[in-house]
Amino acid sequence: MNTLFISDIHLEANKPHLTRLFLQFLADEAPQADALYILGDWFAAWVGDDDRTELTEQISAALLKVAQQRVPIYFMPGNRDFLLGEKFLQSAGCRLLKDPTIIDLYGIRTLLMHGDTLCVDDKNYQRFRKLARNSLLQKIFLLLPLSLRRLIARFLRKQSQQTQTYIAPEISNAKQTEVARVMKEHQVNLLIHGHTHRPSIHYFNLNGNLDGNNVCHIVLSDWDKTGNMLICQPDGLQRLVNFNK
Ligand code: MN
Repeated sequence: MNTLFISDIHLEANKPHLTRLFLQFLADEAPQADALYILGDWFAAWVGDDDRTELTEQISAALLKVAQQRVPIYFMPGNRDFLLGEKFLQSAGCRLLKDPTIIDLYGIRTLLMHGDTLCVDDKNYQRFRKLARNSLLQKIFLLLPLSLRRLIARFLRKQSQQTQTYIAPEISNAKQTEVARVMKEHQVNLLIHGHTHRPSIHYFNLNGNLDGNNVCHIVLSDWDKTGNMLICQPDGLQRLVNFNK
């Protein structure tokens, strides 16, 4: 028995090794899980559920197969694939989670996020995020012809890649005070998110009292040459595991 968490796979047509890793993961690991959570940036880009390609068909078919083996699969949007909607998720047998979501993980009250909202020092990104998540703007964007949406996405990606190289690492990271704040606000003992590509399992003392390190903050890994998953077991054991087949 275990629950699996993954994020930041960044699937795209011109990186077939990621697709291979992901399909292998779905075949080998996912069918035995109690549940699978995909916490955002599953795809490198998403411009609408009508943008079906060979890649999206392959992925949705493989996920549906896992879902049909009675494994609940949940998807939380990331900053790259927040336009991924119910239509695609239905075809893949997945359920949509809002960011943030609280779950009961074998008795542990757990907060799930993509993680981008924790990077509060990146003011430019937070401004962009506010615009990008505006529902009216999203509706207008989705009305544009698919070819134009692809073009805009490519332009935005190039821009973001250029800015990323100028941003200091501490600015693009989750801020510890914000991590503590959201954990307090939601009264959770465990926080799991991705986005920053800095995998770690970190215990700390939330209340400043003397009862030791009482909460846990887990950051998932992105996928590159290897895949990576967080395995959580009913006995409270948590492991970040790399794999490459
Ligand atoms: Mn992200």
